[in-house]
This record gives sequence, C-alpha cells and structure tokens, in this order.
Amino acid sequence: MEHESKAVLESLDITTTGTGVAKSEDEAVAIFQSLASPVAMKVLSPEVVHKSDAGGVKLDLRDADEVRRAYREITQAFRDKKVAGISVQRMARPGVEAIVGVANDATFGPVLMFGLGGVFVEVLKDVSFRSIPISRSDARDMIEEIKGYALLRGYRGISADIEALEKLLMAISDFVIKNPDISEMDINPVFLYPDGYMVVDARIILGEPRAAPAAAIEQDLHDLFYPRSIAVIGASGTPGKLGWNVFTNLVSHKFKGMLYPINPKADEIHGCKAYPCISAVPEPVDVAIILVSAGITPDVVEECCKCGVRYIVVESAGFAELGEEGKKIELLMKDIADRYGVRLLGPNCSGIINTHCSMVQSIGIVDALSMGNIGLVSQAGVCAAGMLWGLRHIMDFGIIATIGNKLDINETDILEAVSKDENINVICMYLESVKGGRRFIDAARRITLEKPIVVLKSGRTAAGKKAVASHTASLAGNDQIFSAAFRQAGIIRARDYDHMFNLARAISKQPLPTREGVFIITYAGSLGVIAADAITDNGMRLSELEPHLLERLKSLLPDYVCGMNPVDYTFSQDAETVKRTIEIGVDSQDVGSFIVVLQAEILDSYVDTLKKIDYKGKPIIACVAGKEFAQADVIKMENAGIPVFGTPEQVADALGIMYRHQKRVAKEKS
Ligand code: ADP
Ligand code: MG
Repeated sequence: MEHESKAVLESLDITTTGTGVAKSEDEAVAIFQSLASPVAMKVLSPEVVHKSDAGGVKLDLRDADEVRRAYREITQAFRDKKVAGISVQRMARPGVEAIVGVANDATFGPVLMFGLGGVFVEVLKDVSFRSIPISRSDARDMIEEIKGYALLRGYRGISADIEALEKLLMAISDFVIKNPDISEMDINPVFLYPDGYMVVDARIILGEPRAAPAAAIEQDLHDLFYPRSIAVIGASGTPGKLGWNVFTNLVSHKFKGMLYPINPKADEIHGCKAYPCISAVPEPVDVAIILVSAGITPDVVEECCKCGVRYIVVESAGFAELGEEGKKIELLMKDIADRYGVRLLGPNCSGIINTHCSMVQSIGIVDALSMGNIGLVSQAGVCAAGMLWGLRHIMDFGIIATIGNKLDINETDILEAVSKDENINVICMYLESVKGGRRFIDAARRITLEKPIVVLKSGRTAAGKKAVASHTASLAGNDQIFSAAFRQAGIIRARDYDHMFNLARAISKQPLPTREGVFIITYAGSLGVIAADAITDNGMRLSELEPHLLERLKSLLPDYVCGMNPVDYTFSQDAETVKRTIEIGVDSQDVGSFIVVLQAEILDSYVDTLKKIDYKGKPIIACVAGKEFAQADVIKMENAGIPVFGTPEQVADALGIMYRHQKRVAKEKS
C-alpha cells in the first residue's frame, strides 16, 4: 500500500510526500494540523489499486471541516473494502506528472519503465523501457526517448531536473536487483520540478522471488564452425531424401575436412566410404549431423557422445514444435548431451554454413556461394538457406547458423561465437523468441561496439494478455520490451526481410558515416528532392560544400544546372561527371555520405568508374529506380561493393540507421 511503499522509498533516499495514517476523524485532523499545509487524503486498502477511480482521493483540503468531511466520504465509499486507514499527506506543489515503474517480462526479467502522464499514462502511452539493471546512459536514453522529452528539457517555464530523475531511475533499478521478490511497481505520479522531484503515489507489488540469472559462460564454439571432420548420420545415396541433400551439399561445396556418411545399407556415398554406425568410424569426429527420425534420435545422440563426438547437430524435425511428446524426447536428448558435456545444435534446424571452410550442412540444396563477411543467425532453417538462392548474387555470407528449437545452444551462444569470428563484420538475426534473456542484452551490447547486429524479430502480435496490477505491467507489452532490449543493446531492429538484408548489404559493403551531411547526385530532380526530404526525416541533412569546392563543382556543371546539393545533372549525367563530383565531396569536411541516383538503362556504364574512386571512408549507396528490371547490372554494381536500392527513402533510411549506430558506438566508447 501507498504508506508502506513510500516508507520503503524514503529509506532509499527517494523524496516522497510521506503520509500519516489516520484511523479516526480526530486523528486525521491532528495529522492535518501537525503538517501545517493543505493536505491530500486517500484510502489505504490492499484491495484498492486505483484509488481515485472510486473516489478514494481528496485533494487540497485546507481546514479541519474539510478534513472531517473527506474522512467520512472516503470511509463511506469504501465501507465494503478492507481499509487499513486513511492517508493524510502534504499536497505536493504542482509539477510535471511522470511515472516510474517496474514490470516482470517473461523473456528479460525485471524491466524499468519511465513515462509521462500520471493518471493519463495508459491513454498517452508515452513511455520507455529498459531491462534492469540499467546504466547511467540507459537512464538518460529512457528519458530522451519519450515524446514528451522536449517538455522536460524546458518549454514555457516548465522543465525537469534530468539529473535527479536519472538518479531516481538508477536507484529503483538497484533496489529491484537487491530485492528479487519485487514483481511490479508503480511510482505514479512522481512530480518533476526544475529542482528535484516528489513522489506522490507509490505501490510495490511482491511476488515469488525471481531466480538469479544464469551465470554467463563464455562460449567457444569454434570447432562447431570449423570442424576437421563431419559424420552425417542418415546420409543417403537416394536423391530426394534429406540425407542425400545434406551430404550432397557437403561434397559439392568441397568441404575442407573429413566426411563420414553413416548408413548401414550403403558402402559408399558420393565416393566417400560409408559406415554402418558412428562407432565404426576409425577417426575422431568433431561434428555429427543427425537426420534420423525423432523417436530414435536420443539413442543416436547417446552413441555419438560415447564415441567422443564434440558437437551434435540435430536437423531432424518432430520435436517440441509438435507438442508434449516431442518435448519429452527433447528433454531426454538434453539430459544425455549434458551428461557427456557435448553441445547440441537444433533440433529442427538446417545446420551451419561456413563459406570460409566450404561447409554447407543445409537441408535444401544450395548453389555455389562466395566467401563473405555477413553472419546470419536464424531460428528458422528456410529463412537462412532458402533465401540464399537469390541473395547470394548480391551479398556474401560468411557464417549462416540455424538454431531451430534451441534445445541447448541458443541464440546468445551462437551470437557470441559468430561475433568472435574474424571473417564476420556484421550479424543478421532472425528470431522468434530469445532464450538467453538478460545475457542476450549484455552480450549484444558488447558485440555491437565492434560489429553491428541487425535483428528481425517476429511474433510481434502474439503478446499474451495477463492479469496485472500495475500501470507499468499493463503497458509492458512483449514487443515493446523486445524493442527496448534491442535499443539497450545497440541492436538495429529491422522491419522486414528486405529491410534486414538491405541493411546487411549496406553495412557489409560500406563504412558507417561519421558526419550527418549527405551529398546527393542525381539525374532526376524529383528523386533528388525526395532524397533530400528523406535524409531530413532520418535525422541527417544536406551537406554544404566549402567555397573552393563549390567553385570546383561549378566548373563541372552545364549552364542549365543550378542546384549544388542535390546536384541534378538531368539526363546528361554520365560516369565521368559523377566520379568528378564524388571526388569533390570526398574532399569536403561536411560530406559524410553519398547518395547517387543512377539511370537503370545505363547502370552498367557506371560500375568500373565508381568502383575505382577512393572514397576515403565515406559510404556511398546507389538509388536506381526500376532496378528490378536491370538485374544483371545491379549484380555487377553490388559485386563492385556499391549497394543498389530502389528508392531514395530506402537509401536515406539505411544511411540514417548507419549514422546513428556510428554515433551511439562512439558515445558508448568515449
Ligand atoms: P491513484 O491510486 O488513483 O493512482 P494517486 O495517489 O496517484 O491515486 O492520486 C491521484 C492523483 O491525485 C495524482 O495523479 C495526483 O495528480 C493527485 N495527488 C495525489 N496525491 C497528491 C499529493 N500529495 N499532492 C498533490 N497531488 C496529489
Ligand atoms: Mg497513482
């Protein structure tokens, strides 16, 4: 209840109005007289969550008669409830009404919320979340993230003490960490002032103590990605079978290690000597891929463990995704693997691709791949291998890891391992859930300082509605928490597949912009204007060339061209002019990135020229309207290292995301 919660907060050095508890009219008057101030009176009851809804809050009471009347009215209104007393407390001077709260998220554990609105918070929904514990910079980000931040910073005489607010957020985070039995909490409202704040109402809800988060064990899955030998249990010589697909992929991509097909009915498959069972293989096996039916998989897992196999990849399906029966088989498998200390990937996955050791374990046939610097972690197999068929023409992957049901190795394990690989510079993830919880945030936060992570998270609409007692918990929708966790970790959240792979292409091929100025070169005025709007929408601006560079540019321009940025060459635009224009931008202190709008019909003529320019660390993205009809040339341009997008908005969106990411990393590192 409020009086108890405020006492707890006071003990943490958090300023509240305090409250006296009256059990009679006379006591209420006595407290009022001792406070020598107008008072608020409220019902105190474990059964009443929103006191004002039912007439349980009376404000600004100024004399003994008013206090007596309020006492009678409140007691009358709540005669059917268990009332612990009537609170008599100082009126706080008016301020900006804010909320600070705590809820418990199924994935990430306790989360902190900050927002504006007081009693209107559920209507305005102007709130931000972070997983607890928060850092100082998280506290600052939470405050800056809400729409009402401009109000807090100062507007028409209203403002808030941001520093005091940061301390309040940190204190609550710390308090929750030290008290695992706090399940929800609402400080609503806290009045924010130019100097300090005042907690006016508080409620702390206790529950089952949270389990301590599992200790983070640093994963070294190196040999899972670079095995010296692979056994395929259930390899088949019959086209059409999954065991044929997987083994054919390993052979046709020329895996640089030993291959052992395991099949009691075959002597050899694709020229490799076959063995009847894993124990018959004479050499040590790093990775065993299992493709037999779910029911007998635990036995096979045990056999692998006994033979000293180090990693097991279960590609078979038919486990937890089908229900209880499958779940039982999974637990059995996990037990066995744990007992032998063997790590298991899957089940229900499509293995791992590592172009740097020519290893393709996919369930579907995969065509030739080039080596690349993009890592992809995917919960679903089809998303990884299936999309490769087209994407391999315009982007190069290093490691693709599918994690399926995540029985043992989860997304966080894989993320940590992939991020350590020197061949990988950017990591994409397709996730439907996160098992690592808070550890995922901590790992990703570390990794994003060196390598950007782009996540596509689905299942956004499946937020389960549960009964909750606090405003905070009712606002803490599952998807909001994911977005907050991603922000906290510096992860870029993609809107859809195209967005994720567009960003991956841009980031893997181009450096991050370090300045907000953008130089736009176009053959079509309209596309230049759209690009200019779009970069503004994305928090960047048109760059301004220094006077001597403007002179240099003028000498390049035909007389009918007037703008200096966007530079619009109309249909006379050709490769040589674009090159000379870019070189001017490269020399400018104010240019952080380039957008070049190119003609689809002569795209080919730009490839070699643009490839040879020394951009001195400034990114370039091409915008080609109608690019889907110029595929062959788009592929050439992409292979020359210049990403090609279809609209100026897409280009500006990507550059904006890259710029903000760069800024965040620089800030976090400083
Ligand atoms: P509820 O249980 O409905 O959330 P509150 O204690 O938050 O009840 O009171 C409702 C509103 O009354 C608050 O949002 C605030 O605007 C005002 N209020 C409550 N207590 C005080 C106080 N001590 N000083 C000033 N205003 C108050
Ligand atoms: Mg309240």
